[in-house]
Amino acid sequence: MEHVVETEELAIDGGTPVRDETLAYGGQTIEEEDVEAVAETLRSDWLTTGPTVEAFEEEFADFVGTEEAVAVSNGTAALHAAMHAIGIGPGDEVIVPTLTFAATANSVVFEGGTPVFADVDPETLLLDPQSVKERITEDTKAVVGVDYVGQPCRYDALREISDAHDLVLLDDACHATGGTYKGKPVGSLADLNTFSFHPVKNMTTGEGGIVTTNNSEWADQMRRFRNHGITSTHHERAEKGSWYYEVANPGRNYRLTDFQCALGISQLQKLPGWVERRRETAHAYDEAFAPIEAVEPVTQRDDSICAYHLYVIQLELNQLRGDREQIFNALQAEGIGVNVHYIPVHYHPYYRDYFGTEEGLCPTAEAAYERIITLPVFPRMTDEDIEDVSEAVRKVVNVYEH
Ligand SMILES: *Cc1c(COP(=O)(O)O)cnc(C)c1O
Repeated sequence: MEHVVETEELAIDGGTPVRDETLAYGGQTIEEEDVEAVAETLRSDWLTTGPTVEAFEEEFADFVGTEEAVAVSNGTAALHAAMHAIGIGPGDEVIVPTLTFAATANSVVFEGGTPVFADVDPETLLLDPQSVKERITEDTKAVVGVDYVGQPCRYDALREISDAHDLVLLDDACHATGGTYKGKPVGSLADLNTFSFHPVKNMTTGEGGIVTTNNSEWADQMRRFRNHGITSTHHERAEKGSWYYEVANPGRNYRLTDFQCALGISQLQKLPGWVERRRETAHAYDEAFAPIEAVEPVTQRDDSICAYHLYVIQLELNQLRGDREQIFNALQAEGIGVNVHYIPVHYHPYYRDYFGTEEGLCPTAEAAYERIITLPVFPRMTDEDIEDVSEAVRKVVNVYEH
C-alpha cells in the first residue's frame, strides 16, 4: 500500500535534521540563588562535616516525611551504606530488578552479598511482585524496588511480600525524587530509600546522594559508615573540645561537603516546580505519540505521581521495518539526544562470569531492552525543544513504519 503521508528525507539518509544542535537527554538547572548559596558556604568556617550537612538532612527528611536522612557522596554510596546498615554479607541474597543502573546490584556485591535478578512488569517496566515471590529463598534478606523513570513501584504488594518473609524493603528512588505513591512521598515508601543528586537527576549537588529512613539505629550506622566507621564527627569533637574517637568497624569516606549540601537545600526548594515541568513535558509527548501506533510510552498507573527523571518509549517492532538500533541512530541524526535505560544488569560480563546469569533469566526485561528508547526530558527544555523531539519521532517512525 502507498503511504498517504508524505515522507521527508531523514537526516541519516542525507536530509535536513530537525535540529542543528543536539538536545541532550537530561541536564541540571542552576540558577543565581544556587550559586549564591554555594558561595556563602565557601566563605563560612565549614566546608565539610559542618552544620549545612545537618540542615540539608533535616530539610530532605521533612520533604519526604521520614525521621532521618543521611547525606552521602553519591547515589551508589547511598545504596552501599543502606546495604551495610542492614548487615548484608556473604551468603545473603538481595532481590533487585534487572532493568536498572548497575549500581543497584553492585552495592549488594560491595558487602559480599548476592544480587538475585527479578523480572519487570511489561507495561510499567517496574519490579514485578510475582517475580520477587518466585526468587525468595531461605537466604533472601532484602528486596530493592527501583522507581524506573520516576514511577514508584507497587509498594503495597512489595510490603506485603517483605513482611510475610521478614525481608527489608528498600527503594532505589534515584529516578523518583519528588514523586508520590498513593499520596505518600517517595522517600517514605520503603524501610530505606536512596537518592542520587547527579546533575542528570531531578535535583543536583554535583555529585551526591542521601538515604532516608525511620530507623535511627540504621541512620547512626550509616553516619559512621560514611565517615571511616568513626563514632563521632569532627564537628561534634570540636564542640566538645575533645580529640578522642573510636573506629567501630572500617567504614568509607562517603561524606558530602557543606557547600554541596547548600546547593542541595537551594535545589530542594525548586524541585516541586521542576517535577511539574517534567510532567508537562511528558504529557505533551503522550499526546504527540497517542496517534503513533508503533510508539508506546511506558504505562503510568493513576495511583502515583511520576517524577519523570526519564521519558521512555517502547517501540512496537512488528510495525516497523527497522530495529531499535536503526530508529535510535535515525533519531540521533535528527539532533535528538536519545539514550537506552538500561542494559539488563544480568547481561553484564561481571554478573555472567561471577554469578552465572544468562539470557532467559528475566524474559520480560530482556524483550523490553530490545525496544526501549529514552527521549530528552529536563526542566530547562523549551516548548520548541519538546516540539522538536515529537517532530523527530513522527518523522523517523513515518519512514520506518510498514
Ligand atoms: C543514578 C542512579 C544510581 C547511582 O547514582 P550515582 O549518584 O550516579 O552514584 C543508582 N541507581 C539508579 C536507579 C540511578 O538512576
